[in-house]
Amino acid sequence: MNLNQGRRCVLYARLSVTKEESVSIARQLQSCRRYAEARGWEIVGEFVDDGVSATISRPEDRNGWTSLLAARDFDAVVIWKVDRLARRVLDFLHADETLEKRGAGLVAVDDPIDMTSPQGRAFAVMLAVFGEMEAEAIRARVRAARAQLLKDGRWPGGGIPYGYRSIANQTGPGRVLVKDPERAPWLSEAVKMALRGETVNAIAMWLTESGAPLPCRQVARQTANGAWNRQTIDGLLRNPVLAGMTPRNPGRAKSAKRVDPFAVLRDEHGRPVVNEALAVIAAEEFVALQHMLNARTSPQARKRCDRQSTSPFLSRVARCDDCDVYMCRGTNQKRPVLYCPTCRQTIGRTALDPYLAERLLIERGKELLGDGTVEESWAAVGRDELARRAVLLTQLESLRIRRGVVGRYFDDERVLLRWRA
Ligand SMILES: [Zn+2]
Repeated sequence: MNLNQGRRCVLYARLSVTKEESVSIARQLQSCRRYAEARGWEIVGEFVDDGVSATISRPEDRNGWTSLLAARDFDAVVIWKVDRLARRVLDFLHADETLEKRGAGLVAVDDPIDMTSPQGRAFAVMLAVFGEMEAEAIRARVRAARAQLLKDGRWPGGGIPYGYRSIANQTGPGRVLVKDPERAPWLSEAVKMALRGETVNAIAMWLTESGAPLPCRQVARQTANGAWNRQTIDGLLRNPVLAGMTPRNPGRAKSAKRVDPFAVLRDEHGRPVVNEALAVIAAEEFVALQHMLNARTSPQARKRCDRQSTSPFLSRVARCDDCDVYMCRGTNQKRPVLYCPTCRQTIGRTALDPYLAERLLIERGKELLGDGTVEESWAAVGRDELARRAVLLTQLESLRIRRGVVGRYFDDERVLLRWRA
């Protein structure tokens, strides 16, 4: 018996607003049609999610997919690629489960996936699950390895802070951090100057004029003509290694300015782990120094303080999709974020805020609001973030954020946005 004979199928195509996708709806449908025709399947419907509406992550929240599910008498859904249906394993499995319940299976033209047979289905599910498990396992392994290295007092690699160097570990494998006899005295003097209230500029000038050896990285790159710059000094004054503490992500930050001076390795009681052999100043002095640096009225310091108070635009607006609590405003490495007070998932706002504003204007701009439209109200309130929030709330049914892979890129698949009916 040929299972493929006499199938009735529907086609599904999706185009999201993100730019990286170049295959148009028309081309997706065309390849699906060819696939169906080659197998002698009858096409009983074509469903499409186009443009902005397709950025909604869960298939069941999309109009095209919902209409498809409402259609009758088909036993296969043909899509071009799996990512047209869902980008996450759970969404994919859920959509497939819904189809399976009504006796239909999924076929992807360009992926080795055929959910119309039990074997094909098992294989596809396995692939998807292993793909996601693999990614998570790799991340977990890297995290665990780093944590263990730090616990053992070893240096996990990456940029070595000024005044220190790494040597082979005497008591075990790997490398450990020690003071660099050539540069440590300069570091110590620079820190003392900062504690006396000297400006970062003054310290830079003094180091340059005294011919202090530059950071090794700068020497290797031969970028400097012996001159110290204030960013380098600002960065080293904020490094918790000054107080013998271990930054949680040593050597990670590309620019020294992104180091969070209080994100340090802590013991089981939450107290910072201190290696006295590395300390240039006491922990209290380090804390005082951070306050001094932040209180400076130089343009750069002022900018940093301003960013601490983040825009109220998303205050009590977004909920964590896992915990169902409002996400709070905060900063992470001085960038504005929303974070869940329960599970601590975090999403950056630098891209999120404009993304929401854009969708509001594109999808709801023409809706009536007061005496005019949403678009007009939005323009009228200018940059008043609280008034913008009020406009957004008139249109919003719900905004939920779900967990994503930690990274620096904005992932719109994490944003579950519903407008009022
Ligand atoms: Zn949460």
